[in-house]
Amino acid sequence: MQYETVIGLEVHVQLDTRSKMFCGCPADYQAAEPNTRTCPVCLGLPGALPVINRRAVEYTMMTGLALHCSIPKFTKFDRKNYPYPDLMKGYQISQYDLPLALDGYLEIDGDANLGHSQRRIGVERVHLEEDVAKMQHFPDGDGGDGYSLVDVNRSGVPLMEVVSKPDLRSPEEARQYLVSLHSLVQYLGVSTANMQDGNFRCDANVSIRPMGSDTFGTRTEVKNMNSFHSVFQALEYEVERQRRVIEDGGQVVQETRGWVQEREVTVSQRSKEYAHDYRYFPEPDLPPLNIGRQWVSELQAALPELAPARKARFQTDYILSEYDADQLTGSRATADYFETTLSLRSSASGPDAAKEVANWMLGDLSRLLNRDHRDIADSPISPAGLAELLGLIADGTLSTSLAKTVLEEMYATGRDASAVVDEKGLAQISDTGAIEAAVAEAIAANPKAVADYLAGKETAARFLMGQVMRITKGQAQPELALRMVQEGLAAQQS
Ligand code: ADP
Ligand code: MG
Ligand code: ZN
Repeated sequence: MQYETVIGLEVHVQLDTRSKMFCGCPADYQAAEPNTRTCPVCLGLPGALPVINRRAVEYTMMTGLALHCSIPKFTKFDRKNYPYPDLMKGYQISQYDLPLALDGYLEIDGDANLGHSQRRIGVERVHLEEDVAKMQHFPDGDGGDGYSLVDVNRSGVPLMEVVSKPDLRSPEEARQYLVSLHSLVQYLGVSTANMQDGNFRCDANVSIRPMGSDTFGTRTEVKNMNSFHSVFQALEYEVERQRRVIEDGGQVVQETRGWVQEREVTVSQRSKEYAHDYRYFPEPDLPPLNIGRQWVSELQAALPELAPARKARFQTDYILSEYDADQLTGSRATADYFETTLSLRSSASGPDAAKEVANWMLGDLSRLLNRDHRDIADSPISPAGLAELLGLIADGTLSTSLAKTVLEEMYATGRDASAVVDEKGLAQISDTGAIEAAVAEAIAANPKAVADYLAGKETAARFLMGQVMRITKGQAQPELALRMVQEGLAAQQS
């Protein structure tokens, strides 16, 4: 039997605010020693009163607007009750029936294997809640229970949840959805969205049904994936597991399963909990929110250009290839770096200038940054620095290969291009006197190449030019060197 896969994703995104969701503690919990970013509110002490973080509300609305959701006029927070050691109060302040944003969509690249190109994936809701503390488990080595420690720094950090409709039809589409959503929140600047650090986490709901059926199968929810690839792997595994259960005459049980990366399997963790298990009720310590339309339209107007639009503009405005435009808009910082550099190339414009900046960024600069696992935002070479370097190529001070050497030095030392050129004496030699001496040296040292050339082997001139470049440590202006080698050889002939 042929089956169709149905996937819906719940993505938790930590918001990059200065303070926590309901107290003044700094939200950068990872930067601090455990249990140093706490106060009575996020420790959950009785009687402590929460205050809503306005910025977190705005970030959630911005995300909702970018996802084409509607923002209700009235919303509120609710208590979600459950006992767990990482939940300081015994309840989490979340949003139940009236989320901050409702009913939107996200455009993704569909799965080509299913014949899908662009697809619109429904977004059911975007709501705001608080993160819980962080548990660390230390097994005791003898197979005993060991012990656990709790770090309360993360407790109360703003957490936004984006819930998709069950519109995804394969693990590949789930991966594409995550890539697009990740780019969206990162372009909006609402989250650092680092998956490894757990700032962007996904629970994946998956079921299968006979091809052509219009009712949904029983789903399982998979947790614990910490990369796009592991979400993909976990879903592939789970689809196959469910198919086998059904083909063996069994039934898929609705449950929560955990992805075990080392073994590449999902394992049953617990039976599914339902909304009534949480005994939701309106949070009595917080006022409901009336969201004015003026506020919403201000946020809408201030939304930045997002990756898909920016990519399209890069292709039309700068005549860049789809590949280059895609790479350059991979992150907002990369796209900003590109446009700033280009705008500083005052003496050059048009497609050639754009292509030149793109090549340097995607080539040598990326290579250095990748080598050091560095983000472009932390590049030791600023857009102004790269623009200056390209200016030195344009005015003939540097050949391309010298410029590569200068770039490495700029990267290593953080110094300006002109400072590196002066200090290292790296400027290109276009002084004929200096090159003439090198040509004479090359000709004298390589009689065989000279004889070859005189016997009609023209490539020998290239070899001699290479020698001139070596003698001048790469600084001879290449075309000039070749011309002078040819002149020198012509003189030998007569
Ligand atoms: P909860 O997990 O809180 O019970 P929901 O019913 O809101 O939540 O569903 C959570 C997620 O599960 C949503 O992303 C939704 O698209 C997805 N989902 C719901 N039903 C199915 C299904 N039969 N197969 C796959 N995904 C589903
Ligand atoms: Mg769920
Ligand atoms: Zn606090």
